Amino acid sequence: MSNTRCGKKRYDDRETAEIALGHIRRNSTRKKKPKRAYLCHKCGGWHLTSMTQSEIDKLINKCKDSRQKRIRREADYWIDKLGVRD
Ligand SMILES: [Zn+2]
Repeated sequence: MSNTRCGKKRYDDRETAEIALGHIRRNSTRKKKPKRAYLCHKCGGWHLTSMTQSEIDKLINKCKDSRQKRIRREADYWIDKLGVRD
């Protein structure tokens, strides 16, 4: 377990994350407790979150969108530069 650039506690695999999740849910007195573990696309590790699955899905879709836009921008740049636009 180590902290990463993500700024979140990182678990190496799902099992470890879920064991930690169960432990925190049993012992934490905080109002907002983590609900699930999810695989982080940034660091490849597992983090805990109090977000619901649909909230996570939304976030992941947002990431995908912005990546697609960036790829599109890059493609447009090269199309302009190389003059290969139809
Ligand atoms: Zn991460």
